[in-house]
Amino acid sequence: MSPMPSVAILIVSAGKGERFGGTMPKQYRLLGGQPILRRTVRALSDIANGHIQVVVSPDHLENYNAATAGLGLPVPVLGGATRQESVRNGLEALTPIAPDFVLIHDAARPLVGSALIARILATLEAGAEAAVPMVAVADTLRRQNADGSWELIPREGMWRAQTPQGFRFAEILNAHRQFRTVSVTDDMALAEAAGLAITRVDGEESNMKITTQDDLLYAERLLIGSYEFRTGSGFDVHRFTEGDHVWLCGIRIAHSHALEGHSDADAGLHALTDAILGAIGAGDIGQHFPPTDERWRNASSDRFLAHAMHLLHEAGGQFVHGDVTLICERPKIGPHREAMRARIADILGIDVGRISVKATTTEGLGFTGRREGLAAESVVTVKLPA
Ligand code: MG
Repeated sequence: MSPMPSVAILIVSAGKGERFGGTMPKQYRLLGGQPILRRTVRALSDIANGHIQVVVSPDHLENYNAATAGLGLPVPVLGGATRQESVRNGLEALTPIAPDFVLIHDAARPLVGSALIARILATLEAGAEAAVPMVAVADTLRRQNADGSWELIPREGMWRAQTPQGFRFAEILNAHRQFRTVSVTDDMALAEAAGLAITRVDGEESNMKITTQDDLLYAERLLIGSYEFRTGSGFDVHRFTEGDHVWLCGIRIAHSHALEGHSDADAGLHALTDAILGAIGAGDIGQHFPPTDERWRNASSDRFLAHAMHLLHEAGGQFVHGDVTLICERPKIGPHREAMRARIADILGIDVGRISVKATTTEGLGFTGRREGLAAESVVTVKLPA
């Protein structure tokens, strides 16, 4: 048996998105809470198991870094003045790896599915020189002439070409090198110029290219069905000890006592952290930050919360809503409630409307009533890919 052919994926993210409007290119806009480019990379890294190289505009490196943080991508290749030049730069950067196949994909198609990728790779493995996903044109096509008159274009035999377009790496690199001066809008056109045979693969309507605001709204709708909602709960207690302040929900509050703990003993943030971990089935705070580990002595608990949020994002999830209840006789929570919400929203990078902080006493009953300690509980709802 011959070894599995190696595959590289080139994602072209160098466009300025002028049709979309605004100053930020569309591939960095949020779709279902994540930058479009991030979704595109994740969609491809889940299925192709290949080397992923992104080509970016030098003007938008900051957007790129923010959109791909934590994905472990190689340093991006800088694009050129045209898509064609950007692809060529990307292919040249792949020459040290020299994969058998390369899939060239537009960053603005984040909903690319695993079945489509599998069809393209299977077509290449079966010997095709170029595998291009296409969708039949269903609408009636008309061209308006310069004099305003309309012309009917027969739609029989008309196809819309999508990406990723799959090629043998050496051949498409040569085509790009050979036809630098021919201006085209996709790589299939260069493959044809180089005499490569094109094999049509069934495309997918959902593999839409996000070009306008309307497209973005439509893509949001397509995504809804691909999510499930999950709930996690968290609970934490810390004992009062000598001191003059406590940390609660990320806020320092002057108090007659301090809270005892290995870290800063912020029970509010601990409960919230555990609720997020619970919602994604990622264990508990003690597992991620063992109290036996000297690194976490007196640690500021915003780090724990930020880590849980990072894990949620790594799982492709979004934070929908979090509710924290602090249970104590003292300190009074009311005066600090809005500051706590704002601080949590800041740590999580979310709108403050997605966070609630409440407080209650236990009417003098139990350990909280005796002011021996305080408790916090939290419930969190997240949205995860189904
Ligand atoms: Mg704790």
